[in-house]
Amino acid sequence: MQDYIGFRRALLAGETTCAQTVETFLERITQTERLNIFIETFADEARKRADEVDAQVRTGNVGKAAGMVVSIKDVVSYAGHTLTAGSKILQGFKTVLTATALERLIDEGAIVIGRTNCDEFAMGSSNEHSIYGPCRNPFDPERTPGGSSGGAAASIAANLCHVAIGSDTGGSVRQPASFCNAVGIKPTYGRVSRWGLVAYASSFDQISPITSSVRDAELALEIMSGHDPKDNTSAMRPWQGPPLPERYRVGVIRQTMDSPGLNAEVKAGVETKMAALQATGHSVEYVDFPYLDYLVPTYYILTTAEASSNLSRYDGVRYGYRSPKAQTLEEVYTLSRTEGFGAEVKRRILLGTFVLSAGYYDAYYQRAQKVRRILRDYTRELLKNFDVLLSPTTPTTAFKIGEKTDDPIAMYLSDIYTVHANLVGMPAVSVPCGFDASGLPFGVHLLAPEFAENRLFDLGRRLVEI
Ligand code: GLN
Repeated sequence: MQDYIGFRRALLAGETTCAQTVETFLERITQTERLNIFIETFADEARKRADEVDAQVRTGNVGKAAGMVVSIKDVVSYAGHTLTAGSKILQGFKTVLTATALERLIDEGAIVIGRTNCDEFAMGSSNEHSIYGPCRNPFDPERTPGGSSGGAAASIAANLCHVAIGSDTGGSVRQPASFCNAVGIKPTYGRVSRWGLVAYASSFDQISPITSSVRDAELALEIMSGHDPKDNTSAMRPWQGPPLPERYRVGVIRQTMDSPGLNAEVKAGVETKMAALQATGHSVEYVDFPYLDYLVPTYYILTTAEASSNLSRYDGVRYGYRSPKAQTLEEVYTLSRTEGFGAEVKRRILLGTFVLSAGYYDAYYQRAQKVRRILRDYTRELLKNFDVLLSPTTPTTAFKIGEKTDDPIAMYLSDIYTVHANLVGMPAVSVPCGFDASGLPFGVHLLAPEFAENRLFDLGRRLVEI
């Protein structure tokens, strides 16, 4: 599979064109339709845009993302196009704005090829909670590609675009990247503007790329990032991170490797990478993170609280779906929401409303906020002695469609290693680590201090190669 940077070299050498490349991707998208990866393609627009970019390239006007073919998860706004967050409640909704992160790619010459499947409002780990039906894993169509950016990761695994734009609130690009042999990076909170991203949990959400190589992830993220006056939480920090170490001090979170749910083959694969790092001169040491069991509960208290507030805007009046049965204003609200939201979204709105309610606010929401602070402080402390923290990305390889749908807790636990980075606001990447005996891929996860994404790219690249 050729990554964007490889394609770019060929494009600039005159060996290929954007038009040809878009055509090849569109053909493959048609051939893989049964995997339910794309919910809409922008074929004619993409062809037109490819011709424009080819013309620009001929005149020597070459943007940093010239001819980069991107897919967008159905939570990323693209002006004039449908945006539904995988939900019935946004049925028929067309957005009038373009997400800043996407706009920056387009300004540099990117070509948007279509919209990818995802869990409703990005809530899920398997892409099964989607109004469009489940997306299937290209490595085994009986299995999920992970979620919530399942379509995004599958669009890379099936070689249907160069870069997939997803979003990550608790692992939604890293977990599917792990299940699909791709690279998924969640930047530091604030690195990328959230303008134009459908809000799930605003203090966790980041628009994040999935790619086939680490160098593509680096390039895409660099273009997407930077302060945006439309998002006050976007950071002013320059792109460059701290100076890179020659030899890394890698801390391996012992509790992630010892956890009973960790699959033996995944564990062995991560251990092989640890040994290879050591053999190439890096120091690799186990380190204790005694709070592992608190991550998932804290994450689900805080994100559902934020979601219950964010999703109150879908009231049947301003957006999308309105129940045809509603007679009164009250019924417009209740019936539209009852009929428009899926079961998982409702579960989270109920949970979020509960933890914010007068009698339980102190016991749940406020305590979870305190735990979040403790987690961040402790992680910062650990990162004084280590350049990065390493763990598996997910406890297992891709699970079967339907396997966890009746057991939300089992589903939530598939994010046990990834939610850490979102809780503490730090950047983290999943890079391909290996395959299990049945040929299913899995990733290895690196977490770095705020604004040190450069370490993730540098060490991530080495990890893939060794
Ligand atoms: N799977 C996690 C959840 O369901 C993460 C989702 C995400 O990162 N958007 O909340």
